[in-house]
Amino acid sequence: MRIDIVSVFPEYFRTLDLSLLGKAQEHGLLQVTAHDLRDWTHDIHHSVDDTPVGGGAGMVMKPEVWAECLDELLGMDEVPDTVEDGQSSPAVLILPNPSAPLFTQRDATELSHEEHLIFGCGRYEGYDARLPEYYRGRQVDVREYSIGDYVLNGGEVAVCVMLEAITRLLPGFMGNPDSIVEESYTGAQSLLEHRQYTKPAVWRGHEAPPVLLSGDHAKVDRFRRDDALARTSEIRPDLIEALDCADLDKADRKT
Ligand code: SAM
Repeated sequence: MRIDIVSVFPEYFRTLDLSLLGKAQEHGLLQVTAHDLRDWTHDIHHSVDDTPVGGGAGMVMKPEVWAECLDELLGMDEVPDTVEDGQSSPAVLILPNPSAPLFTQRDATELSHEEHLIFGCGRYEGYDARLPEYYRGRQVDVREYSIGDYVLNGGEVAVCVMLEAITRLLPGFMGNPDSIVEESYTGAQSLLEHRQYTKPAVWRGHEAPPVLLSGDHAKVDRFRRDDALARTSEIRPDLIEALDCADLDKADRKT
């Protein structure tokens, strides 16, 4: 998978060379490049922002600079705003935005099948609203996502979050592929995962559930399933409401 990230702070992405993401790059599973948006400016100050049309506080990111950069990464020629030239790009353009729909595990799974992702990090009051509109008009698959109901200073952290959620799903990324099969928000049923315990069996007077040490796999599975259902109904009742009753077995219904 090829990943291009555009930011006014490309240094933020040095951390992507660490840990599993770093290994995935070394093994050629991923090719990540962080670009400095200011490389596409032409003025002496390398300006990427301007005052908001209509007035108000803060600055808005200039569409011209973004478009020069994105045209190049998307492999598209510049065309007049109103003319569609039939060109399209196989890349998906992802723009983090706190006022967009929430990014979910389902989005991560879908995007993990793509070959080329381009992330654009907003700063200040964000990017000019015509930017996503323009690229959608040119048949680019543009996705705007929020990572949560709060406002960050910029899109860099949001991009790191999405990128990690997507890339860990790539075949060969995890040492043990089974570790991404049974996880929270994963699979058709999308529950929270059951709680996890390790050794010792008793730690500072707190016991791990004895059934987990019983060696009875059916009982262990039942215990974990009940725990997942109970936790999900307590913490995320919306996920329980979204469950299809046909997917529940008799014992589930008692939980
Ligand atoms: N004025 C914007 C608003 O109130 O919706 C906030 C702009 S924020 C300070 C600057 C940039 O940070 C955004 O353009 C976006 O790229 C990123 N950002 C901030 N919070 C985010 C969130 N919850 N999810 C995704 N991106 C976020």
